[in-house]
Amino acid sequence: MLQFLFYLRSKIFLKLMSGKRDFEFLNATVNELKIRKNKAQKPIIFCTTAMEVENLYFWFFVALGKERYEDETNPTKSNLLINQYTGSSGSESKKAVLSRIRGETSCRLLICTIAFGMGVDIRDVRKVIIWGLPASPVTMWQEIGRAGRDKDNAEAIIILFRSNLFARLKEVVCVTRAECLRYSILKQFYEFKDIKPREHQICKNMCTQRCICTRCECCSVCRNSCECWVKENVAK
Ligand SMILES: [Zn+2]
Ligand SMILES: [Zn+2]
Ligand SMILES: [Zn+2]
Repeated sequence: MLQFLFYLRSKIFLKLMSGKRDFEFLNATVNELKIRKNKAQKPIIFCTTAMEVENLYFWFFVALGKERYEDETNPTKSNLLINQYTGSSGSESKKAVLSRIRGETSCRLLICTIAFGMGVDIRDVRKVIIWGLPASPVTMWQEIGRAGRDKDNAEAIIILFRSNLFARLKEVVCVTRAECLRYSILKQFYEFKDIKPREHQICKNMCTQRCICTRCECCSVCRNSCECWVKENVAK
């Protein structure tokens, strides 16, 4: 337990998105699957309930249409780009999902609850999407940690809905939009109660194409406070 808490997951860029419950947040993922098929990234989407998993799975099923198969001429289950898993799916099905998502199979996107995350090590997950507010900061941190197990750069997108924001946000994650996300999550762990926000190196503004300072690599809140990032994005 302690070991994972002390792991800062600094190679995972944290991005916060919020608004009303809208599947449009997932359009980019749908488009990537349509275009890149089995070469698409392998994202995992964590939902808070089994019902939400089913809803999202169905939404992807429809949004992808015929393109939900790697090979449209062979519309079989083993050819599907999407998969789902919840606690009630059982251990056999967990094994099946695991073997499908590991390696170079057609399975790209997995929609699941935290029941899938436990003890699972899929090395090349580049993106985790957290769909709605998890039960606790610990759960959120575990879900985030499913990304980038190979220690390469990865991304965790936390999507919070307005209902989450009002009801339980204060007790679960104190996102103020002004505070580093990593810090706002970690400081809620007892072990980290004295943690200080990370001091970011000052960007010397030498970045030509894309800023690569620690601010820009930390989270969406930190990145928005980097002069390079602001300059680049105001110019556009
Ligand atoms: Zn940050
Ligand atoms: Zn810079
Ligand atoms: Zn920067």
